Amino acid sequence: MDFLPIFINIRQQPCIVVGGGEVAARKVTLLLKAGAKVTVVAPELCAALQQAAIQHTPRKFEAELLDGAKLVIAATDDHAVNLAVHAAATARSIPVNVVDTPALCTFVMPAIIDRAPIIIAVSSGGAAPVLARLLRARLETMIPAGYGRLAALAGKFRDQVKQKLGEGLPRRAFWENVFEGAIGEDMLAGREQLAAERLQQAIDQSSAPVSGEVYLVGAGPGDPDLLTFRALRLMQKADVVLYDNLVSEGVMELVRRDAERIYVGKQRAEHTMPQEGINDLLVRLALQGKRVLRLKGGDPFIFGRGGEEIEKLAENGIPFQVVPGVSAANGVASYAGIPLTHRDYAQSVVFTTGHLRDDTIDLDWVALTRPQQTVVIYMGLTGLAEICRQLIAHGLPADWPAAVVQQGTTRHQRVMVATLRDLAEKVAQAGFKAPTITIVGEVVKLREKLSWFEPV
Ligand code: SAH
Repeated sequence: MDFLPIFINIRQQPCIVVGGGEVAARKVTLLLKAGAKVTVVAPELCAALQQAAIQHTPRKFEAELLDGAKLVIAATDDHAVNLAVHAAATARSIPVNVVDTPALCTFVMPAIIDRAPIIIAVSSGGAAPVLARLLRARLETMIPAGYGRLAALAGKFRDQVKQKLGEGLPRRAFWENVFEGAIGEDMLAGREQLAAERLQQAIDQSSAPVSGEVYLVGAGPGDPDLLTFRALRLMQKADVVLYDNLVSEGVMELVRRDAERIYVGKQRAEHTMPQEGINDLLVRLALQGKRVLRLKGGDPFIFGRGGEEIEKLAENGIPFQVVPGVSAANGVASYAGIPLTHRDYAQSVVFTTGHLRDDTIDLDWVALTRPQQTVVIYMGLTGLAEICRQLIAHGLPADWPAAVVQQGTTRHQRVMVATLRDLAEKVAQAGFKAPTITIVGEVVKLREKLSWFEPV
């Protein structure tokens, strides 16, 4: 280890930055964030520094200017000046950093992941700053934005917990339960008031509540890359997962390895588990204290019956959160190269379902045949011929562009572009299978130019 990582308190301490350019400005911003009293030594200041809350010494550097400083940074592009700053600082035993010159540094500045009060610093000791920055970017995506708030909440209650639980193991177990359990989740989901109330309750009872909860999570249309950070985090936290056939294998692979998996899949007409059964199961598992993940294809609130599932949870007082997902319509449209709206062709887009009820499709055909509009039909494969017939009967031209996309965003994606007249026949001939989505409107013509995704 070439450097000892430490975090240094420079609040209200005099710190000096030599140099008045953009690089100096970035360092000044960091020092100010940490509460330092910053003096910039430079004949001239760049625009950013002119706005900053600093003292300015508009002179060339001289060693005596460092007297009394606690920290010095040299950020000039003049090597001789940088050398002089280093010499003057070391002679006075002041820690000094010369930007991009490790040999002249007694301390280095790390790449920072800021979740104040939690700060993560990554350093390559000056050997490969770009690598450190890449690592920082990866850590940024892994650490929820709410971690800082969580730490701040813990900070507020720290003394109380200490008084109540004393030192050692019980206290550590208490905090682990808080961070890993429902209170931590409340905090990360932005329910700060509730989290604080529950934490107070837990302290009063000297134990963190072990209450189950449900995560209703949108798994997107197939490609695991389309998951949200929050979806992934909850997937890796769950004790048990309820999923159906719309959730792709690639997504399922990202669920915590040792989570119990329950298939509650539904296929048209052949229901593996009735909706009421799923609703009850969610409640039952949560009441056992489990973290239950309900994974749904696409977005849970778009033709997903997600609303019904959480209604039941709410009735039973079970905490839950809903995580949106990329819905089939917008995911599939992107991967098929069909923009859903376009200045020249469509100013609105309608999502509808082509699900057959008693073998008839009862849709608002007048609304669906409005001009300058794209229509996206979920679940419409069986009724496709009838849907196209009705759209023509209600005024759309028979040669109006329309497309069917099968298993969009996955490597099995297939796209059929046709007209309302011949779409159903072509799709049947090509042997398309569910899930498919149908897109109707002039935007379909753009696919020829905008297609980019090549399934293998
Ligand atoms: N909640 C989901 C929709 C559930 S309804 C969402 O927001 O996407 C199920 C229908 O979604 C399927 O019948 C099909 O029309 C559509 N669908 C889901 N995933 C799809 C995919 N990868 N490709 C094409 N259609 C898909």
